[in-house]
Amino acid sequence: MPTINDGVTKSEKKNKSKDHKRKLQDPEAEPETLQESKKDKKKKKKERTHEESVNGDETLIGSEELSEKKKKKKQKKEENNKTGVDEVRQTEDNVVVSGKDINDVKFKALNTFSESNLSDVLLECCKNFSKPSPIQSNSWPFLLHGRDFIGIAKTGSGKTLAFGIPAMNHILNKRKNTTKQKTPLCLALAPTRELAQQIFDVISEAGKPSGVRSVCVYGGTSKGPQISALKSGVDIVVGTPGRLKDLIEMGVLQLQEVSFVVLDEADRMLDMGFEPEVRSILSKTSSVRQVVMFSATWPLAVHRLAQEFMDPNPVKVVVGSEDLAANHDVMQIVEVLEDRARDERLITLLEKYHKSRRNRVLVFVLYKKEASRVENMLQRRGWKVVSISGDKQQRARTEALQLFKDGTSPLLIATDVAARGLDIPDVEVVINYSFPLTTEDYVHRIGRTGRAGKKGVAHTFFMKENKALSGELINVLREAGQNVPTNLLNFGTHVKKKESKLYGAHFKEISADAPKATKITFGSDDDED
Ligand code: AMP
Repeated sequence: MPTINDGVTKSEKKNKSKDHKRKLQDPEAEPETLQESKKDKKKKKKERTHEESVNGDETLIGSEELSEKKKKKKQKKEENNKTGVDEVRQTEDNVVVSGKDINDVKFKALNTFSESNLSDVLLECCKNFSKPSPIQSNSWPFLLHGRDFIGIAKTGSGKTLAFGIPAMNHILNKRKNTTKQKTPLCLALAPTRELAQQIFDVISEAGKPSGVRSVCVYGGTSKGPQISALKSGVDIVVGTPGRLKDLIEMGVLQLQEVSFVVLDEADRMLDMGFEPEVRSILSKTSSVRQVVMFSATWPLAVHRLAQEFMDPNPVKVVVGSEDLAANHDVMQIVEVLEDRARDERLITLLEKYHKSRRNRVLVFVLYKKEASRVENMLQRRGWKVVSISGDKQQRARTEALQLFKDGTSPLLIATDVAARGLDIPDVEVVINYSFPLTTEDYVHRIGRTGRAGKKGVAHTFFMKENKALSGELINVLREAGQNVPTNLLNFGTHVKKKESKLYGAHFKEISADAPKATKITFGSDDDED
């Protein structure tokens, strides 16, 4: 190790003395040559200036060359702007941020709420949180600077406030010089009534200290109160696509002032066949708008929508994985059985998992008729149970969910409507009475348990009718280190190549004419509106 002496190390001293020796031996050695070249340069510059002053043409050529260079540089910059040369950064908590200029100091992730410079009234709703969640910390700097934003983050990550607080800030800034708006400035679209209600609950509570007014509109319930709320003036409208479109067509909802648009669970929204409504609604908003899109996955159809309605250089923030992977805190048990054996087996499992009759157990079925049938069957056999499916009136759905959440009825039967987006705390066990139509839905269903650092159990019935999905399910089980039963393996490990394999890791990588992704429609049976 070189020792330090007066700030000069031994090895530096050695090099210096070597240089000195070289200079003595060879006056043409490197350092001298450098000196000479500086002199040369000065001389040449002098000569050139002289030449230029006597020869106008030379001057012309020189500046032409220069402007040619400048042009090329400008062109390259413009191309970069168009193609959006993306920068990527990965944070310690496994958040990947990509997009243009993301490493600019003003986009630095926040460590504390105060770093956001947001007013106290806006941060009031965060007073019980110690610091911004990863999605908040990595989205606010961009959203508060007006950037279009794609967030790949799941429910429970704090994403509602990730877009909710910047939306309220946007409203307060816009309102500075005007009196209270009649028509909304912000719109949040959600695929299901329950998710819309959940977003509304968070945003309306968070908006109280600053006086930001919200309204929630969804189908399955009377339009009257929603229309009155809209007429009395509102800042944020949260809603499902069908009802929003209805209200726009009735002329009671005007979106021309909407300059902050949120699409929550965009993948789910398109899966449910809402693409035409979403497009139509977005086209009614102001042309100068900030668009924020949240999605649990990043399929091609969502990617296209983003390309169409966002500025060419949105920021993309991925929290966790955008690939299909199950929560590793969930123990997955898959049981292959016959259709007619399921009722008895369900009872046996409830006796095991729901012995106390106090812990929350969520049973998933596929169709709404199945939900009522299983609910009735369990009630007949003495189980206290409620259900939510598209079959029920909205009020009954909200009530059932509330009874499940507050523990009055901790056994809930649900169709996939409830599988995503809902923040239901402490679900101990998920039972898949029917396997869903896609493996993505399986992953989302079982993700209702094992939340907030807790462990969960997902027990799944798999029948021969589901065998087309055995390969994908086996992959999900293997990825999470779970046991794969032999009779599931017997159905085959083949995975049908899906168009979803074209999902881009990056916004720019898929051209606009790329093939369309498969649209999965959840049967007319369970459509939302
Ligand atoms: P989400 O559905 O993604 O909006 O997540 C909602 C859940 O995240 C709720 O239980 C919130 O209380 C919780 N949450 C939101 N922000 C934070 C935060 N900064 N720290 C801890 N929990 C948070």
